[in-house]
Amino acid sequence: MTSLLASKFGTPLGYRHLPRLLALGFLVALVLLAMTNHLLMSLEVNRTADRSVQRMGAYKTSLQATINRHHYLPRILASDPRIEHALAEGTQYEPGDGAVQYISELLQSINAEAQSDEIFLMAPDGMTFWSSNFDTVHSFVGSNYGFRPYFLSAISGQQGFYFAVGATSGEPGLFLSAPVRNAANDILGVIVVKIDLRPLEHSWMESGDSVWVTDREGIIFLSSSERWHYKATRPLSETHLDLLASTRQYGMTPVTELSRLPDWNTPQWAAFDLGDVGEQMAFSSAINGYPWDMHLRLPMADIRQQVRIKQGLLLLCMAAFAGALLYYRERHRRHEAQRALEQANEVLEHRVEERTRDLREAQNALAQNQKLAALGRMSSAIAHEINQPITALRNYTASSRLLLERGKTDTVKQNIEKMDALTERLSALSRQLRIFAGKRNTGSGHASLHSPVRYALDVMQPRLEAEGIECHIDLGTERWVLANTMMLEQILVNLMGNAVDALAGHPNPLIRVQLAMTGKSSACLSIHDNGPGMDRELQTKVFEPFFTTKSVGDGMGLGLAISYSLAHDMGAELTVQSEPGSGTTFSLTFQAVVSEPAEEPA
Ligand code: ADP
Repeated sequence: MTSLLASKFGTPLGYRHLPRLLALGFLVALVLLAMTNHLLMSLEVNRTADRSVQRMGAYKTSLQATINRHHYLPRILASDPRIEHALAEGTQYEPGDGAVQYISELLQSINAEAQSDEIFLMAPDGMTFWSSNFDTVHSFVGSNYGFRPYFLSAISGQQGFYFAVGATSGEPGLFLSAPVRNAANDILGVIVVKIDLRPLEHSWMESGDSVWVTDREGIIFLSSSERWHYKATRPLSETHLDLLASTRQYGMTPVTELSRLPDWNTPQWAAFDLGDVGEQMAFSSAINGYPWDMHLRLPMADIRQQVRIKQGLLLLCMAAFAGALLYYRERHRRHEAQRALEQANEVLEHRVEERTRDLREAQNALAQNQKLAALGRMSSAIAHEINQPITALRNYTASSRLLLERGKTDTVKQNIEKMDALTERLSALSRQLRIFAGKRNTGSGHASLHSPVRYALDVMQPRLEAEGIECHIDLGTERWVLANTMMLEQILVNLMGNAVDALAGHPNPLIRVQLAMTGKSSACLSIHDNGPGMDRELQTKVFEPFFTTKSVGDGMGLGLAISYSLAHDMGAELTVQSEPGSGTTFSLTFQAVVSEPAEEPA
């Protein structure tokens, strides 16, 4: 059955295919990882960009606030009559002349008040006449900044807005400029306020983020880390390079280009190889109202790590999914196997039922045949038993008639005695058959064992004497047992008759009848003879009906079968112990009772 199921469903879980399945799963996982790598990277970059834009919002606000704080200052100063007067009257002196130094002092006090970096005033030719740093080594006084775009804007009547590295001081700053006009609206000169943005950069650096700001051409001019100052984030045109050289916007050092990575370059973000700090991804966001862009840069490694974590999670999910699939497949397989087993069991049970039915029918047929055979054997035995005495009777009758005619009455008398014996034999046979076939007295009650033994001895006395058999009777005190006296008498007559038959021709024939208690509640009556005994095979057959070893006419094979049946009916047990050459003992075991019978059953 097991092999049948195994062949139907294969080895459990298909373990044979497991290595191949694992290799396939590994391959699929690799392909999937390769396929999802770019997609996951894009998703992660997008997600990081969103977060970066939010963080850049705060830095933009701080930058705009710093600029707005000073944005109004050049215009207000330009409308100050003292400034206008200084330009109208003071330019006749030499720059730095002590007679007009009070103007520089005025600018110095305004500069201190406004917390700007420097404030300076320029003549229409670009010459700086007055400056808040007039008393320092980096004084702007006497320097001509006519080449600077913030001057050119203001002198042409526009507001100037320009980030540059100071031509004199070398300090970077944002230059805000405005034209100074007289009452006739003529431009008398230019007032410039320089703002220092380095404290702002310092605060960015302290925040821990890497932030930079680029100008319209993509050149970094503000950064949380000074080392990226004045690096170009995209290629610069020759014209612009020339312009940078002429305006010295970012000092004398030439602007160099950061090396971009070919991937991940869009208007929203760009990737750079920053050498010692590794690959970086910069996310961009325009600063409203200014020609600048703010950038927040992050190591690509951080983004890639996030991608790897997600890939790991994806693999875990796949493994869990594959595990679940295998589990359900295995469950399904077991379920199927169980169902097949149940079906096979059902088929088997059905077959067993069929076979049992066939067997029962065959047994019934056999029993029927056996019954018929037994009936046949019994009929022929009875016919034989009856026929013989009848034939003998007929012969004796015929010979008696002849003898009477001849007057030989003595011989007739002998014949009659023989005929008497024959009728006695016929009646004994009939008695036996009546007991076997007729309605027996089956009631059991408290019975004595002594009286049935005496009865049997009385019945058997003539034969015992005729055969010269010695009898030892050892009954001891009276015992009361559960039995039926008449049945017991019949059994004892049968057993003693058999013992007498067995002792025929024995030189010292002996029968011993013994009664003994075999326990608190059982008694055993045994009839022993020292006859030839029986071998084991014979012992197994003696209780079978119609089994006899005696010659035809001497035995019918019913005595022990009837005795066994009678003993059983009255609740006793009949057994045999025998050894060839050592004699035979038949034992009757009864249930012992303590009192005399109240009334003998009928
Ligand atoms: P029957 O006496 O008509 O043969 P029984 O049923 O009484 O039938 O006995 C069956 C057989 O058992 C006898 O033919 C005999 O072979 C055997 N048998 C019975 N009693 C003894 C005995 N005491 N010793 C030896 N054989 C015996």
